[in-house]
Amino acid sequence: MLTAVIATTALLALLAMAWSIFPVAPAGTAVDLRQQSEAQRLELENRLRLADRVLRAIAADIMANGRDSAPLGEAEQRYFDTVTFMRSGEAPIQMLPVVGTVPVVDAPWQERLAQGDSIVVSGAGSGNQPARISLVREVAAPGYRSALLAAKLTPTYLWAAPGGAMGAPARCVRESGGTTLHCSTAAAWQASNALRSDLSGAIERLDWSAGSQAWQGAAAVLTLASPHIPGHWTVLSLAMPTPGADRVGVSRRTVLTMSGALALAGLVVFLLLRRRKAQVDTRQLVQATRSALAGPPALPPPDDETALQHRLERQRHAIRAMTEIDRASLSRAGIERLVELASTHLLLCTGAQALTIAVLDPDGLQRITVTHTFADDAEAPAPEQDVMDASVQELLRAPTDGGWIHQLGDLALLQAMAQRIASSAFVLPVHCDGQPAGLIVLGCHDPALIGADETSNARAVAGRLGAALTSLARERELYAQTHFDDTTALPNRQYLQEHLPQHISRARRDKARMALLFVDLDGFKKINRVAGHSRGDLVLKDTATRIRETLREEDLVVRFGGDEFVVVLPKVGTGLEARRVADKLLVALARPFLVDGEEHQLGASIGISIYPDDAQTVDAMLHNADSAMFDAKSAGRGRYSFFDAAVNRAAIDRSSLELQLRRAIAQSEFVVFYQPQIDLRSGQIDGAEALVRWNHPSRGMIGPADFISIAEQAGLIEQIGEQVMLAACLQLRQWDTLGIAPRRVSVNVSSLEVTRGDIVGRVERILSATGLRPMHLELELTEGVFLEEASGALEKLNELRRRGVRIAIDDFGTGYSSLGYLRRLPIDVVKIDQSFVRDLTSSRDGNSIVRAVLDVAHSLGKQVVAEGVETEQHRSQLTDMGCDVGQGYLWSQPLPAEQFEMFYRQWQLVSRPVALEPS
Ligand code: C2E
Ligand code: MG
Ligand code: MG
Repeated sequence: MLTAVIATTALLALLAMAWSIFPVAPAGTAVDLRQQSEAQRLELENRLRLADRVLRAIAADIMANGRDSAPLGEAEQRYFDTVTFMRSGEAPIQMLPVVGTVPVVDAPWQERLAQGDSIVVSGAGSGNQPARISLVREVAAPGYRSALLAAKLTPTYLWAAPGGAMGAPARCVRESGGTTLHCSTAAAWQASNALRSDLSGAIERLDWSAGSQAWQGAAAVLTLASPHIPGHWTVLSLAMPTPGADRVGVSRRTVLTMSGALALAGLVVFLLLRRRKAQVDTRQLVQATRSALAGPPALPPPDDETALQHRLERQRHAIRAMTEIDRASLSRAGIERLVELASTHLLLCTGAQALTIAVLDPDGLQRITVTHTFADDAEAPAPEQDVMDASVQELLRAPTDGGWIHQLGDLALLQAMAQRIASSAFVLPVHCDGQPAGLIVLGCHDPALIGADETSNARAVAGRLGAALTSLARERELYAQTHFDDTTALPNRQYLQEHLPQHISRARRDKARMALLFVDLDGFKKINRVAGHSRGDLVLKDTATRIRETLREEDLVVRFGGDEFVVVLPKVGTGLEARRVADKLLVALARPFLVDGEEHQLGASIGISIYPDDAQTVDAMLHNADSAMFDAKSAGRGRYSFFDAAVNRAAIDRSSLELQLRRAIAQSEFVVFYQPQIDLRSGQIDGAEALVRWNHPSRGMIGPADFISIAEQAGLIEQIGEQVMLAACLQLRQWDTLGIAPRRVSVNVSSLEVTRGDIVGRVERILSATGLRPMHLELELTEGVFLEEASGALEKLNELRRRGVRIAIDDFGTGYSSLGYLRRLPIDVVKIDQSFVRDLTSSRDGNSIVRAVLDVAHSLGKQVVAEGVETEQHRSQLTDMGCDVGQGYLWSQPLPAEQFEMFYRQWQLVSRPVALEPS
């Protein structure tokens, strides 16, 4: 009996020592607090990372689309109160309704910004107000250099408690300097403020007092490189110890005075253990033992060296298990990996012979994944899926600290364990967010082999596994929030961005075609406007269901945003298959939508792009399908359209040309050529038409036909027109000083310059700047401008004529104006279009049209210029008909100024005798 008592006392000493390292503790004691602070740290880290990911997405959108980047809304407001974008030297742009600022980033961290990192900046809170925490990052893209994007995190998002379990300890987060950033309760603020400021490492236990109150806490340290937390944050879990609960703090003297009680309890344990066959409630026993234990460990008996070694070895395994689970959790390992780690170490740190870990399906389905491991087995059997039965439910309800069971064979889950080795098992539930999420079952043929020391190790590992599962669950929840659409439950744009690359690489690997359909509802905005947004949401839900029902399981349907959906058909043999799906979708969406008992006809427009034919990257696939969808819309809606590379290329050419035109204006890349106009009677050079060319740095000389209309559409024509007019007037002045001047220069003016611009003012400015007399300037306008009476064009032209500037109607005969109309136009010159001149010799009609124009124009006192005179026959016919002036390749092509000068000089030499001939 004496030996028994000694043995039991030794066992109790071991238990007590274990207590000091891994105490089996109720809520609020050190181990709980440490686990809580650790869980809190993981949580906070996840949240910061996730918010950073959202901010990166916003930045990427700004970089890709500039001002046209997608407007921010509810999705972003979940994370941020304010999002502010600021380019240096400009007023900040608020991307959310609440006005925010861009916080100052201290100099040492600016370098990290430049490297593309996000920096966490905390603005001090006042009193018990939480600090403002912002994420700042640089947005560097052409045109956006040195722009900053700052987002203030929503406190409810950042600081939300994991699970918010009842009676959970208070939480605080402090900066490296000791400043408190946040506390979950006012009392905790006080407690945190009273705590020393130098908490720099993970601390398992802290004791301090604030005011009259004593506190216990544990701290975990959060350092992050991305987003970057300058310094570190300390995550604290704190509690006020309830009287009597502070077992660890009891003095050594108290222990001694309690030795009698210890020995007595040891005796009870010994006796009860010996009676294990009688199915004792060991839980009660453990509890009784615990109540007796109160204090730091008794020293192990000196003769029990091996037992101590053994015990330390198991503790080391427990610590390794926890570290590895933590590390795996941080690196976002999945459940399988976490369970694998727990399995490997649990056998070693508990000495159990069999281990079963069951984890509930995180999707809430009544399913579990069960892993059996046996100490004598090198190869662990693969985990198996099982349906949760009543016995598992029962086991899940086991006390938090675990308990023993002795009839394993009755439970389906533990059959394997019962058959192999174990007759008894210690069952320990694993909790996630305060809810049972799994089970750890340690089996052995003799419960005495798994003592309090071992169950304590198991609890510590279960705690870590629970924390890792909690963090995983949180991550899944956050993933769902950011990757799925609330209204339709479909994956969202973010999901598509992340998954489309996989579809593309699979198609590439399988050498298959893949189709992306961009589906846009027709007339959806009207529903929102007329019936309200909640009804609009119902239509979107219905749309999602109809699309989903039309497709196969393996096709991906995404709500892209608003009323836009994207469908990915991972394998299409030919475009025909995509066509068939598009047809089906059109039919499904053409069925009326029932809103408030009223039928609404919507329909959809669909754009299709095919991998690899139309595009090979995510962006190109989306862009091409989107542009095809616009084609479908502009072709009348309710139809689909395939992406047309040629059309798209033209659009791209156009937009890049527009950009280049702006540069050309800024860098004066335009040159003016001059084409002589010959007086058909005297043969003298009467004037010159100024014709613009674009001396493109890489493409060479570009003719006006290729850029004038784009310049007109882009609103750039005025600037080009002004440059040409100034150059032409200056040139004529210069020639005049050289004595080689033609009598006048004609400048082409686009109708927009007359209708919208201040053409009178411009001409005046240029004439006075160059000193050219108005009668030497002629403006050529096409017929259209004369019809724009409402714009005041005619008054402006009359005004110019009054000042002596000549007005010519260009390309006459190709537009709307009839001969009769000529009478009313404020013009001096009619330029017969070259198409009539070309027809002069070939058709009788051509001849009579020219003749009619000449008659009418002459009868009205207008001069007539024939364009496109290419042959001697043209010239002689026109001369015979009495045409005044000719212009065309017969004499010369449009020439650069210096060549025109040479032409003029030579012409003077040659034509002088002609001019001297009597007429
Ligand atoms: P336009 O005012 O009718 O100019 C005459 C066009 O006919 C010029 O083409 C000229 O090179 C071409 N041409 C001249 N003689 C012959 C010939 O014998 N045979 C043929 N086949 N063509 C001949 P260009 O220079 O390519 O200019 C095209 C048009 O661009 C011009 O037609 C004018 O409408 C416009 N344009 C030219 N410069 C300017 C400008 O500075 N401003 C504006 N708004 N438009 C301009
Ligand atoms: Mg012209
Ligand atoms: Mg013309």
